[in-house]
Amino acid sequence: MSFLKLTDVTKFYGSTCAVQSMNLTVQKGEFVSLLGPSGCGKTTTLQMVAGFEAVTSGRIELDGKDITHAKANTRGLGIVFQSYALFPHMTVAANVSFGLEMRKVPKAERAERVAQALALVHLEKHATRYPRELSGGQRQRVALARALVIEPPVLLLDEPLSNLDAKLREEMQFELRQIQRKVGTTTIMVTHDQSEAMSISDRVVVMEAGRATQIDHPHRVYEHPRTRFISTFVGKANLLPGQVAHASGTHTQVKVGALTMAVDGARYRPGAAVLLSVRPEKVQLVPAVQGRMDGQVCERFFLGSQWLYRVGTPVGDLMVLVPNDGRAALAEGERTGVDWPDHCMRLLPADETAMAE
Ligand code: ATP
Repeated sequence: MSFLKLTDVTKFYGSTCAVQSMNLTVQKGEFVSLLGPSGCGKTTTLQMVAGFEAVTSGRIELDGKDITHAKANTRGLGIVFQSYALFPHMTVAANVSFGLEMRKVPKAERAERVAQALALVHLEKHATRYPRELSGGQRQRVALARALVIEPPVLLLDEPLSNLDAKLREEMQFELRQIQRKVGTTTIMVTHDQSEAMSISDRVVVMEAGRATQIDHPHRVYEHPRTRFISTFVGKANLLPGQVAHASGTHTQVKVGALTMAVDGARYRPGAAVLLSVRPEKVQLVPAVQGRMDGQVCERFFLGSQWLYRVGTPVGDLMVLVPNDGRAALAEGERTGVDWPDHCMRLLPADETAMAE
């Protein structure tokens, strides 16, 4: 049963459509991320769930109740903003306690719940400090404790980690997920960072220009992106322009340059212009004349755990990611064969209106 449900939620700011017909159901305890580039409507969606922005049309339900027009303070949701929005003149404990005071929770219970919330985020020793005496990561955790202490039915996170440096951000991603699992709070997080969304979430909502174009588990989004945009926004992809030669019930024959390749599935009509997508880590470098095609290393980049090659082939340049297993890397200018398993190919519409379904 869905716990939070958005039905055809739409938001216009004047003539700008920020969110268009968003349909989303979130299960109790789920961690869902809204992922997309700047301006795609993520924050607006979150703000409508929070009750800070009115919907233009559509319906929002929480635990079976229609909350579309309910005031923000009656929804009782926990919110963590990018800026944390801590009260600078209050101690950590007072910041966390604030929401409980507003709800007239008795003093003894307040103290107990604040202590529990601070223990959850490992800040019990910092209860008497002020926000200015904390690091960015610690401030972020205070904001999280403050949101969770009221035991909200839904936790809303708006780019909660974007003010942290890369290393701390990775640590906090892990910690955030652990805390969320422990307390089991249904969570919606806005982020434009695909690796963050993929690593933390149960499901990801990819948004493009106000629309949710794919809602799925991170692994499915990566392995089966629905649009050209998603294939390159979530990870890297080689996109080879081709044309459907033949489509049967289970396979599609695609002509890419002089090659014909058989791809699983038959969603496209013969003659349709398509993009054949292959992830760089699925491409293998094999001895020349042993692969699908021959190529030549144009450039190589050392990434530590991997080598990234740009290989020139008859169908265009391909990115190839090869694990650094300690063996000598190919040199720039070296000839190589290029191959990939059939099941790693995906077809995308060259023009998004050309899909057969
Ligand atoms: P970012 O990652 O940059 O925060 P976002 O995906 O969260 O972007 P939104 O902030 O939801 O995007 O904005 C969606 C669209 O609505 C944008 O075109 C934006 O300019 C517009 N918009 C957002 N808020 C307002 C507002 N208060 N008035 C007018 N237009 C707005």
